[in-house]
Amino acid sequence: MPVMEGRSVAERWKADAANRAKACRARGIVPHLAVVLVGDDPGSQIYVRNKEKACEKAGILSSVIRLDADCTQEELESVVKELNEDEAVHGILVQLPLPGHLSEQRVIDIIDPKKDVDGFHAVNAGKLACGQKGFVPCTAIGVMKLLEAYDIPIRGRRAVIIGRSNIVGKPLAMLLLAADATVTICHSKTENLKEITRQADILVAAVGRANFVTADMVKPGAVVIDVGTNRLNGKLVGDVNAEEVSQTAGYLTPVPGGVGQMTIAMLLSNTMDAAEQYGF
Ligand code: NAP
Repeated sequence: MPVMEGRSVAERWKADAANRAKACRARGIVPHLAVVLVGDDPGSQIYVRNKEKACEKAGILSSVIRLDADCTQEELESVVKELNEDEAVHGILVQLPLPGHLSEQRVIDIIDPKKDVDGFHAVNAGKLACGQKGFVPCTAIGVMKLLEAYDIPIRGRRAVIIGRSNIVGKPLAMLLLAADATVTICHSKTENLKEITRQADILVAAVGRANFVTADMVKPGAVVIDVGTNRLNGKLVGDVNAEEVSQTAGYLTPVPGGVGQMTIAMLLSNTMDAAEQYGF
């Protein structure tokens, strides 16, 4: 079964962002992503470090604003408001998850939609739902770019997404719908899940459970996109039982080296969109 690997596709997108950053700098504008990191969650620290490295390589300035785990909602919101006002900052990202006492929704609501490079603000989610141009969540658009890179036909095909989060499942459903797929979203209350997933030409797993998708859930020849990132016995694994499913699927994205690579590349691309909107 062919592997749909994200690394080389992501490299092309990263190179494109680097070219755009160079052109921006030549006009006197330094593209700038500000990342707000609250607390010392080890996973979040790694994600932020990876984003910093990718920005640096692409010629995008990144700054990380670190707040203590016990900071108040007001402190967090005042940092975001300052970044909204700062003309030298083009993209703002608040690293999730936040400590339990903080409201993610409230802080996302106050990010300037024009700087919302994660695409989580309701204005951008609404634009996506209405087919208008706006920032699209990086993982969802990354999946679409991966399908495009592998010339996977979407129009008229049956796409099934397991997971309905605002970050992955819902925006990806909107994008697949806009690309003329017939889309079904499944979740924890879905009945007869296997019957539904077995109809999918394109099956996306965004659940957050290792080995959740087994071979008997997959139609032979289907394209299977594994968005999940789980730790199993100290190893990074997806939501798909790759050993089993690779015998059935037409394509499968690996974890690591699949969708995760595309997410970072799309963050760079969104940041350049923000810098170009502001700068010219
Ligand atoms: P999330 O907000 O926890 O959503 C998980 C979804 O899975 C929910 O809609 C949930 O249903 C559904 N679900 C849980 N158990 C289920 C079951 N037994 N049957 C059917 N559906 C079930 O997670 P997320 O933020 O979307 O992330 C999903 C996974 O993708 C995680 O592993 C995350 O780490 C990973 N991720 C990876 C990237 C990347 O760049 N590779 C980016 C983002 C996320 P309910 O809504 O009913 O609870």
